[in-house]
Formats: sequence, structure tokens, C-alpha cells
Amino acid sequence: MNNFDGATNIQNLLQFGEFGDVNPSITDSATYTFMQAKTMTETFQGEAEGCFLYSRHWNPSNKYLADALAAMEGTDAAWVTASGMGAITCAILQLVNAGDHIVSSITTYGGTFAFLQNYLPKFNISVTFVDITKADEVRRAIRPNTRLIYTETMTNPLLQISDLPLLRSIADEHGIKLVVDNTFTPLMVAPCRHGAHITVYSMTKFINGKNDCVAGAICGSHEIINSLVDVNNGTAMLLGPVLDPLRSSSILKNLHTLHIRMKQHSFNAAYLANKFAEAGIKIIYPGFSNHPGHETLRKVYDPQYGFGGMIAIDMKTAENANKLMEKMEHEGVGYLAVSLGYFKTLFSNPGKSTSSEVPESVQKEMGMSEGLVRFSVGLDNDIEMTWQKIRKSLFETGNL
Ligand code: PLP
Repeated sequence: MNNFDGATNIQNLLQFGEFGDVNPSITDSATYTFMQAKTMTETFQGEAEGCFLYSRHWNPSNKYLADALAAMEGTDAAWVTASGMGAITCAILQLVNAGDHIVSSITTYGGTFAFLQNYLPKFNISVTFVDITKADEVRRAIRPNTRLIYTETMTNPLLQISDLPLLRSIADEHGIKLVVDNTFTPLMVAPCRHGAHITVYSMTKFINGKNDCVAGAICGSHEIINSLVDVNNGTAMLLGPVLDPLRSSSILKNLHTLHIRMKQHSFNAAYLANKFAEAGIKIIYPGFSNHPGHETLRKVYDPQYGFGGMIAIDMKTAENANKLMEKMEHEGVGYLAVSLGYFKTLFSNPGKSTSSEVPESVQKEMGMSEGLVRFSVGLDNDIEMTWQKIRKSLFETGNL
């Protein structure tokens, strides 16, 4: 049961520009002036409410977007980054020190996997990868120096579902944090309301929905967000992956249509999922009652947004997958491209693209077929016509 409505919370915010502009004014400045030196000192010390110091720390355009995201997530606060990876890496680095340990879902976005597996060892931080849907495996992986559990609400690319309340209870048993990437499921699930301490996003995807920029966000308590932007030791402040205010203002406008887009993405994905299943194609879709995570998702999702815009089909071999994708692009189904959450349908073969950072042996271990084709289903007005094009492509490539 979910009576939290992130979209209405965004709409209820009163955000307007300095001349009554219906869109908040864009603050096109790197630095901010003070009439009194004392106020500048107080701002440095984080004590002057409503004052801005320097754009890498905070700026009004980023604050408007961050406040809207916090309203959507039901968190105290948020901070916006120049990419999803900026959000993920800052959130993680803020919580761990050299010598610490992380437990992570083995299925995550390939860039996240590479950061955890290849980059963090530089700081003597180790990671144990687990099947996040197996509570025993998660529990067994936790060590005295474990600081956090990392997962995605709906994992990339296998569309497994993380049991957030259960993972939180495991985290609480050990006094550690739960960090959740909610990129695939904005509005559908608000992870911090179901146990996450921190929710991270690649806003590049559904939230912005226009594929015109990369961007990210970190949502959480005041304590967490303030620690990230602390001038002395905040990871976001010191590594500096701040989002440009011009981008913030354009993403904020797109955020206001997210609820309509998510409904249409979900509707179209459900339609295609049923058609694939009827045609006898092996498909992963969390909306099917026989998907292993279906009931888990139902416990936390907001039903008005359905089961999301992501589906994956198994074409068995990479060669088959490639032939199908080329044909679908030719037929005008959408684009053979990485990324997701765009108004056009995008498809890619994760093993050779977004998860190529994951070694083949690990891909096998996580149950990822080399012929997997991941679809981010677009906002097509006539989804039956799209299905006819897919059907023709399947048939003409010998897959039907
Ligand atoms: N998280 C997920 C689930 C993703 O799919 C991606 C990118 O594909 C990222 C994070 C990284 O985001 P960005 O490309 O905005 O850095």
C-alpha cells in the first residue's frame, strides 16, 4: 500500500522566479556577493540560511531542482551532480574510508561495477558482490569493516528487484548504510521511504527524459547531504562534480512531466512484454506475476506508474541479438543505443555495451545471456504499430 505521491509533492512546491517568472530564474553565476563580511564567514561555516557562496557548493538553480527531487523522494534534502556516476561515486566515497568493505549487488550498471571492482581497491576498499535477492548471501558477506550495502531498486540489466525493507533490516543489524540506485524506477518507488539511507540517480535517464545531457542526484537526510557539501571534507564539495545551473533549470522543467511519461513508458512496456510472451520469446519483465521479484516490487511500488519501462528479451546468441537490433533500427522501432528513459525506444545488448565492464565469467555467474536485448520502451503513441515492426524484425531475422 503506497499513499505517498511524489509527483503531487513536486507540484505543491511553490517555486517561481525573482520577477514572478513561472519558471525559477536561472542563476548564471559562479560566485555570490555579500553586503557584510560576517555573513560570508557564516555561510562558509554553513550557518547562513538562504545564502549562496560559490556555485560548486550550492547555487539557486541547483537548489530548486534538489528541493523538487527531495519532495519526490520524501527525503529532507538532495544534491545534484554532473552525472549519475558523479552521484554514485560521491555517495559511496562519503561513507567509506580506506580499509572498509562494501557489499554490492553483482548486477549493477557496468560503470558502477567497474568503480567498485577496479577503482576502489586503490584506496584499499574491498567489495563483495552478491545475489542481492538472496538475504542469506547478503548477511554472510557482511564483515566487521563493512560500511554499506549497495544495490539498484531494479537492477541493470537483469531487472531483478531488491527487497528494500529487508535489506534495511539487514543493514540495521550491523549499523551500516543502505545506498540504492533508483534510476530505472523514479516515482514508481521512493527508496528512502522503504529503507534506503541514500537514493542515487542517473538523471540522464527517465528523470530528464530528453537525452540531451548527463546528470545525477543524491537524495537523503540533511545530515548526509550537508556532509557531502561540507567545505572541509565533503566528497561532493571537494571532488566537485556539480551540475551546471543551466542544466538544472532545464531538468527541473522536464521533471514536471515525469509522472505522465512514466505512465506511458510503463503502459507501452507492458504491451510489448505481453506480445513477446505470446510470441514465445523468452522475456524478463517485472510486471509478470511469474517474475521472481514481482511480489517484492508490489510491496513498495506506486501502482499508478505500473512496472516501469524496461524489458529484456533473450535472443540466445550475441549474433542473433545484433541482427535483430540492426533490423529493428532499420524498421524504425527505435535506436540501437545505450541509455534509457528516452521518448524513443532504445535497445542494446548489455553484454557488449552497458555491462561490458563486467567480465564475461561474471556475466555468466549473474545469469546474463550473451543474447540479451535490453529495451527502454519509448513513449510511442501507437504501440501496436511498434509491435508489428518488432514482429517483422523478429520474423525476418529468423527469430520467430
Ligand atoms: N545507474 C544506472 C542504473 C545506469 O544505467 C547508469 C548509466 O547508464 C548510471 C547509473 C550512470 O549514469 P551517468 O551515465 O549519468 O553517469
